[in-house]
Amino acid sequence: MNALTGTAALVTGGGSGIGLACALALAGDGCAVTIAGRSAERLEKAAAGTELRTVACDVASEADVAAAVAVAAEPTGRLDIVVTAAGTPGLGAITDITLADWNAVMAVNLTGTFLCIKHAAPRMTEGGSIVAISSIAGSHTHRLMSSYAVSKSAVDALVRNAADELGAQSIRVNAVRPGLVPTEMTELVLDMTGIVNDYLAQMPLGRLGTVEDVAAAVRYLAGPESSWVTGQCIGVDGGHSLRRGPDLTAPPPG
Ligand code: NAD
Repeated sequence: MNALTGTAALVTGGGSGIGLACALALAGDGCAVTIAGRSAERLEKAAAGTELRTVACDVASEADVAAAVAVAAEPTGRLDIVVTAAGTPGLGAITDITLADWNAVMAVNLTGTFLCIKHAAPRMTEGGSIVAISSIAGSHTHRLMSSYAVSKSAVDALVRNAADELGAQSIRVNAVRPGLVPTEMTELVLDMTGIVNDYLAQMPLGRLGTVEDVAAAVRYLAGPESSWVTGQCIGVDGGHSLRRGPDLTAPPPG
């Protein structure tokens, strides 16, 4: 009998990176986990050889999210845990961002998180835990990433408001704010040595994170160990948030 035996979870963005690591951490403790993402094929690949269940879902679509939540609740008839890891980056000077790009970032990062909370909470009939993957960009300025940073700040505000509203139903809502972690999303940044060095210079612990570093914090917030914690946005960032946000305008090496 593991700590999460008998529980069911939905993890969006669960086909890769941080979301997949979170799904595996929850499943490893006995939770029946459904991973959601846009591509059924990618999800199947990620779930191969594991007990993870899959459902194709674009988190910007309310119908998709409602259906995914229903699928995730199938194993137990209710939902206990939701991790909203689906996310998209946004790069560009604020004067250059098109309205379409701005809206696309908000649709996935902010509206996607809202839709998951809206549809999951009614299925958390015995209480539950919702963990949003925010970012250090939610609390610290990131020049050239304003759409992303604003979307994550709004996620933090959503988390606090949802926690306040849903606490009466024993539903906890928290966020994790990762610092820089190598994943598909950060490949572009990781290719730029000057920028990576600038990130590292702001981290007292002096190393990049791993998806497992983030998943461990999510696992804590998802499970009974954090039963008196709600409305919090926790930095998992090597201490980066003690200093300033990264300088994405740092010159390339050489
Ligand atoms: P990733 O690219 O591996 O994961 C993002 C996932 O979201 C992918 O599986 C992608 O398919 C999915 N996704 C994108 N749009 C979607 C949509 N409309 N519907 C459903 N799924 C969608 O990158 P990651 O770094 O693992 O990102 C996971 C989360 O962590 C994101 O919210 C990201 O903003 C956040 N984050 C990452 C870092 C980092 O350094 N890697 C730092 C802070 C926050």
